[in-house]
Amino acid sequence: MNGSDVVVIGAGVAGIQAAMDLANHNIHVWLIEREPTIGGHMGMLDKTFPTNDCSMCILSPKMAEVGRHPNITLLTLAEVEKIEGTAGNFTVTITKYPRYIREADCTGCGDCVNICPVEVYNKFDAGIGVRKAIYKPHAQVVPNLVVKDNLHCIECGLCYDVCGKNAVLHLDEDRVQTLTVPAAAVVIATGYTLFDAQKKSQFGYLRYPDVITSIEFERMINAGGPTFGEVRRLSNGKTPKSVVFIQCVGSRDVSAGRNLCSCVCCMYALKNSMLIKEHYPDTEVTILYNDLRAYGKGYEEYAERAKQMGVAIIRAFPGEVQQAKNNLVLPLEDTETGEFKNLEADLVVLSVGMEPEPDTIRLAKSLGLPLDANNFLSSADMKLDPAGTIQPGIYIAGAAVAPKDIPDSVISGGAAAMKATIDSYASEAQQ
Ligand code: SF4
Ligand code: SF4
Repeated sequence: MNGSDVVVIGAGVAGIQAAMDLANHNIHVWLIEREPTIGGHMGMLDKTFPTNDCSMCILSPKMAEVGRHPNITLLTLAEVEKIEGTAGNFTVTITKYPRYIREADCTGCGDCVNICPVEVYNKFDAGIGVRKAIYKPHAQVVPNLVVKDNLHCIECGLCYDVCGKNAVLHLDEDRVQTLTVPAAAVVIATGYTLFDAQKKSQFGYLRYPDVITSIEFERMINAGGPTFGEVRRLSNGKTPKSVVFIQCVGSRDVSAGRNLCSCVCCMYALKNSMLIKEHYPDTEVTILYNDLRAYGKGYEEYAERAKQMGVAIIRAFPGEVQQAKNNLVLPLEDTETGEFKNLEADLVVLSVGMEPEPDTIRLAKSLGLPLDANNFLSSADMKLDPAGTIQPGIYIAGAAVAPKDIPDSVISGGAAAMKATIDSYASEAQQ
């Protein structure tokens, strides 16, 4: 620990990139992650556009590298409480929440998970899968440790008995810890949260079982997810014969207070449509869009590929989703042809947009960092200094700044790391 260290807050793909770039420049990094594992939203995805690489296949080697890098101290289940000082001379106060596992002894074998009798909602599976009271959010967690959820644990004692390493701790054997670390610079890469689809009540999310969100669909079509990659209707467990994606749910929607475009929804809907066509060629797939935004390298060609595979792309925003006897009905106007129709669907997927994390807003306010009109972090200059802020030594990256896809998040993580490197080297030279 010394004053030339850098603190990176958030270990999604942008924070991982920032931490690795800094660590590879021989700078010691404190990587702070709120969840029990690093990886962020990218770890939840099935494939990634526009190449259809398996998301975890490209992310997990990076996660593993972070976990074993000698210049990175990884703190999971941890949050930054306060940052005091100035560039080159910050003091960062971190709260580390208990895992109720002796981290040095746990091998991640999973025996305790297998024996635990309690099943609860798994946040990582976006609510359509379950986990145990002692669990790993998914198979490729970094660090490779379980976590015990004392809120749901019934203290049956089975995990204590089965663990040959005596690594499971009781409620009174672990507690909240506070750490203060010196740092030359701080990178905020706290990511995003998803729009709450219940706010668009006309689409029936959580009222109709066959209306799901895009992230729930990602978990469903993922071979490592709760249905082992099978797309199913939640009403009856059957394969849907028709799937409709509704775009811009919580994006470009003044009535929902969400004026911005979330950048990624058109592309992930195209990707998921193609995956359905690959897995179930007879299933009809329709995307209802406002404008199809395929702006990145290779994205327009990707959209063309979806059309060639038989995905119907209709310019329409349905007024509502209605529950019929056996399926769902979407009244809509095709705004290119002027035709009104009632589109039927077995499964409706809401392409929900990105929102700023409430914790990022809290942190920004405590640091005096300005937020933009949508409550994302403001850059010092959005064109010429997108990774900088008005506070020297504090840099921003990833979707905490604005909705971003994976390549843009990686680029911004690298840019913030480069700026923090300069502060770290300057601090080192003064010591
Ligand atoms: Fe295995 Fe024990 Fe760790 Fe559970 S707590 S994963 S049983 S070593
Ligand atoms: Fe599960 Fe709690 Fe029993 Fe352990 S003590 S097996 S975590 S219910």
